[in-house]
Amino acid sequence: MEKKKILIIEDNPYNMRLMSDILQIHGYDVFAASSKEETLRILDDHKPSLILMDISLKDTDGLTLTRKIKSNPLLCDVPIIAVTAHAMENNKEDALTAGCESYITKPIDTRELPKIIERIIEYNSDRS
Ligand code: MN
Repeated sequence: MEKKKILIIEDNPYNMRLMSDILQIHGYDVFAASSKEETLRILDDHKPSLILMDISLKDTDGLTLTRKIKSNPLLCDVPIIAVTAHAMENNKEDALTAGCESYITKPIDTRELPKIIERIIEYNSDRS
């Protein structure tokens, strides 16, 4: 079976490494982007099964980038999980309003992350 692709958008190298390692161990094909530029370049060639979106990036914010991806008819069905350091309730709402399917907070829970991802990908493939 072909490996499922996950795009991780994250500008913190430590968090990128951590999430990337966990997802590769769980059998995913991981694509990494640390900026809007890189994200759009990767999405030109690959349609991932899921995107992990850091909310605060250097050249944009993750919610603006989420809205951009969700407005693309070719990509709008790709589920996006917002990843943020802020556990405030309105951040969660902002993420969902921008089109994110789910929301997790840093520090990354390494046991939960693969479970959440698997659940969302499964749910999304049942729907389409
Ligand atoms: Mn960041």
